[in-house]
Amino acid sequence: MNRLLVRVALLVLALAWPTFPQGTGEVEVRVTLGGVPVDAKVLVRQGEKVIEIAYNSVREPGRVRMTLPAGTYTLVVDRGAGFHRPAHIVQIEVQSGARRELEVALSQGFSPKAWGYYCADPHAHSNASEDGVTPPQELVAVLMAADLDLGFLTDHNNTHAHPVFAETAAGRGFPVVLGMEITAIRWHWNAFPLTNYTPDIPPMVMLGVAKPTPTFDHARKHGAKLIMANHPHSSYPYFDALGKPYFDPNFDLVEVMNGKFGEDDAKTLATLLQFWNEGKKYVAVATSDDHDWKEQTDIYGWPRTYVYVEGPLTPEAWLEALGKGRAFLTYGPLVNFTAQGGTARPGDTVAIAPGQTVTLEAELLLFPREAPRTLKSLQVIRNGQVVKEFTFTTETQASVQFVDKPERNSWYALRAFASDGEQAFTNPIWVEVR
Ligand SMILES: [Zn+2]
Repeated sequence: MNRLLVRVALLVLALAWPTFPQGTGEVEVRVTLGGVPVDAKVLVRQGEKVIEIAYNSVREPGRVRMTLPAGTYTLVVDRGAGFHRPAHIVQIEVQSGARRELEVALSQGFSPKAWGYYCADPHAHSNASEDGVTPPQELVAVLMAADLDLGFLTDHNNTHAHPVFAETAAGRGFPVVLGMEITAIRWHWNAFPLTNYTPDIPPMVMLGVAKPTPTFDHARKHGAKLIMANHPHSSYPYFDALGKPYFDPNFDLVEVMNGKFGEDDAKTLATLLQFWNEGKKYVAVATSDDHDWKEQTDIYGWPRTYVYVEGPLTPEAWLEALGKGRAFLTYGPLVNFTAQGGTARPGDTVAIAPGQTVTLEAELLLFPREAPRTLKSLQVIRNGQVVKEFTFTTETQASVQFVDKPERNSWYALRAFASDGEQAFTNPIWVEVR
């Protein structure tokens, strides 16, 4: 049969077909925040089982549509992935052949912008990565549904999805940073910003037996301001090169939290604390490294990195402040860490005279994710050692203060835990005793 005829026949069939399959119903959730439609995610459960993960299309903020088999479901309607406000949880009954509309007004919650912190997930893949699934235009809505303040796209060794991602984001007024996961066989590094770029990975670097200096230099020459050692103790372990002649220390960031916190992340954190003890001021970063928007356990924007930006948010200002270590990393708890009456933040250096004290302060805040949760503890870490631990019982909000008298040059970081095991970590405040 002629191809055109086949197409016409298929079109006629499609138009004649019932709007939705037998035994199913349609659900549209309309999500607003402060009366304005917002990008949102809807997770559909039946008991413990996740039936569907749906987002609004990037063209229609706040309208999440699903076709579901007849039955009873729990919908978890969310903007912010549990970081900025509670999810809205609602039970619905879907009837065969019926269409349901649901209005959900999310609670305002809290944005750490009030503290000067803007969040992003600086390691995210689209379907331009061979192992990626998420369409780049819809990735914009997914990142906005996570309530991120700016979006990153870092595919493996290519920038094919950059134009559509950037144009879609611009159409939605969503600032983005375009970058790349420079992917050798054994080692991965994120570099940004980079556009229209092909990495330079000499064969011996590809194999992980030569210094990646030409690769780093090439990326920087093409505009990269920051280079990150990605999941450096995982199965692509750049930190295996530590102490070897082919280790190049000329990177800026260390990916301490990559997706769910695992043993390799704990090892990376331990390595980073060692760097800090040696005075090497690498910056700790948290990313999801997500590839699939419909996957339940990998979630874009979880974990994420909050950066303190003075003045208006621009991608350049965010990257510059990140490079200075003005950042905290988190799976849930929000941590506003300051010193000396709010005059110093992570990345800053406080100078004191011998015998003087330093005053550390922190505000903590935690929202429920699907289930209620509370703050559990806050550790003050000085030069890699826990020197103070605050514990909490029922609190979801706290402010603490700790006065210390360091005898020598020191760094202080905070590590917070929630009752569900989720954690946050800050970059250090440096103290110089002069
Ligand atoms: Zn990777």
